[in-house]
Amino acid sequence: MKLVLARHAGFCPGVKRAMEIAEDALKEGPLVVLGPLIHNRDAIAHIERMGAVTAGDLPERGPARVLLRTHGSAPSVYSEAAHRGIAILDATCPFVRRAQEAASHLAKQGRTVVIVGDPEHPEVQALSAWAGPGAVVVRNDEEARALVLNGAAGVIAQTTIEPRMYEEVLSVLKQRSEDVVAVDTVCLATHERQSAVRELVPQVDVMLVVGGRHSANTVKLAEIAKGMNIPVHHVERADEIQDDWFTGNETVGIAAGASTPEWIIKEVIARMEDMEKRVNEEGVPPEDKDASIADQDVPKTESNVETHQAAGEEPGAIEAPEDLRVGDIIQGIVVRVSADSVLVDIGRKSEGVIPVSELSRSRRDPREIVKEGDPVTVMVKSIDDKEGEIKLSKYRADEVLAWQKLEHAMETKETIHAPCIQEVKGGLVVDVGVRGFVPASQVERGYVSDLSVYVGRELRLKVLELDKEKNRVILSQRATLEEELEAKRSETWATITEGEIRHGVVKGLTDFGAFVDVGGVDGLLHVSELSWGRVNHPSEVLKEGQEVDVMVLRVDREKGKISLGLKQTLQDPWHSVKERYPVDSVVTGRVTRLAPFGAFVELEDGVEGLVHISELADRRVEKPDEVVKPGDMVRVKVLRVRPDDRRISLSIKQAEERSAQPESNGFADNPAVDKVTLGEMFKDLFEETKK
Ligand code: SF4
Repeated sequence: MKLVLARHAGFCPGVKRAMEIAEDALKEGPLVVLGPLIHNRDAIAHIERMGAVTAGDLPERGPARVLLRTHGSAPSVYSEAAHRGIAILDATCPFVRRAQEAASHLAKQGRTVVIVGDPEHPEVQALSAWAGPGAVVVRNDEEARALVLNGAAGVIAQTTIEPRMYEEVLSVLKQRSEDVVAVDTVCLATHERQSAVRELVPQVDVMLVVGGRHSANTVKLAEIAKGMNIPVHHVERADEIQDDWFTGNETVGIAAGASTPEWIIKEVIARMEDMEKRVNEEGVPPEDKDASIADQDVPKTESNVETHQAAGEEPGAIEAPEDLRVGDIIQGIVVRVSADSVLVDIGRKSEGVIPVSELSRSRRDPREIVKEGDPVTVMVKSIDDKEGEIKLSKYRADEVLAWQKLEHAMETKETIHAPCIQEVKGGLVVDVGVRGFVPASQVERGYVSDLSVYVGRELRLKVLELDKEKNRVILSQRATLEEELEAKRSETWATITEGEIRHGVVKGLTDFGAFVDVGGVDGLLHVSELSWGRVNHPSEVLKEGQEVDVMVLRVDREKGKISLGLKQTLQDPWHSVKERYPVDSVVTGRVTRLAPFGAFVELEDGVEGLVHISELADRRVEKPDEVVKPGDMVRVKVLRVRPDDRRISLSIKQAEERSAQPESNGFADNPAVDKVTLGEMFKDLFEETKK
């Protein structure tokens, strides 16, 4: 029987670091671990034997040292510990820490933080706390579709989810909000182990997945293997393995989750080899002689494990340097930074080295780029078999990832965010992991006269052209803006209804009205719909760029026309005109225009009455201009009010008569009315009502 160990198995850098922190701290005395340090019972039992106590909360009393788990803790734990004088040892995985910082940063920007992951998982619960009360957790794209997003969003991921799931949720959210910032917090260590299982399954007959049953990433490995239609056995320890699982199978694959200790993987391999020895010595189990592995033509060597291990090496030498290939992209944690190199824990026996020349193309001081404890993604540049030295390159990994991201963005037409770093002849240079160029014509939808204002700003870009060999990346913000506008337009046409009030922006004024953008579509606000009063030109009421609430009067989808009204959003002054201008009252108004049959007098904005030619004076009048002219202020008596027809009959003649012979009743008899007219009094009242 041949055993094949997955190319990546066992402790990831975050878990390895946490166990080392715990073991080092326990040498100085007991400590409390807040929640299980990692998802593996044997590893927990190991540190508990050394003096660790796993607790759900901070200790009630007494000074104590508390170790925070790899999954991280809520910010309140840090503040509470500081308040109570409890010393914190932080084993939060640096990749999880980066996700927490992203959550907090996005929340401070006023974004709704969406976490893609399992709401029950402790890492996600802590991330939610870092993201604040508005954070939401979605498990998958289906849940993302049900989400109501108001405004800007920021999307992060539980570090151990599948990258595909994060991408799927992201693409759904990008359709639901125009302003989505994505911070990819998926950890490659999990991904590496999953890819290793996918690679291994086609080469074996049965899979053994080793690791905690509560470990999300181990469970995921088992699921992946099961999904590939192969018998899969998930064990936490070697003693759970049953001989009959392997009857008739020639090749057994072994995978282990990121929280599975090396010693357990060794025990499993030893148990498998022991089983084979027993079968060889004792013969096959009686019930299954025919299918016995002893009957198969299988090499029977002392150590039959085919892994990344060198020939003859101990089976337990998991992920020895030889497992790595030059060009592999892996993740690690910075353990030391000096002036000429950076030492990285890559979860193997030996640490990797990034020479300063491989840190960044600009050859800056390493201490400006990384610090101890930082998570880094690196490329394996060379492996010295004799010395065991692994040389790494950060900038090469960054570039490979940047090109992958750009290729993906071009394929999916996804929008990427990138800072503009320089203005050059004909356009802008942006940093998309490599240098990208945005031609001047692709910066905005219209012409831009001064490109320098974009330097330092973040642009939202589509990838137009990629040529890796020529190192050529052409991007466009204009394409993003046009796509957003199109989406906005479609939504507006799909949802706009007659009678609703919409918020809009005045885009332009003409003699006959104003064009108002009500969501990517311009509607016409005709001059007659601007005010209940008379408006000669729209500029008397509106100016370009002004925000207004308008009523949708008509929608013609076939012709692509929308008619809007502004006055409909204001109270109609004719509504209470009878009460405000009672018959027989005397008020002051302004003559607005003359007609052969009389003069029109405006009593207030939108309320105009007619003084018939026979009511202009107590003499015969041939033409109205013998008595009044437009602009004159005149006192008029209200004769008749017909609000439904929007008509008021007035008389100058009778107002003058009454002034000569004051009457004893009614509003107009008040001497004060002569000084402050009723019209003016009610005008104030009307203005108040409008507010
Ligand atoms: S799987 Fe990744 S995120 Fe999780 S502990 Fe390991 S290194 Fe950290």
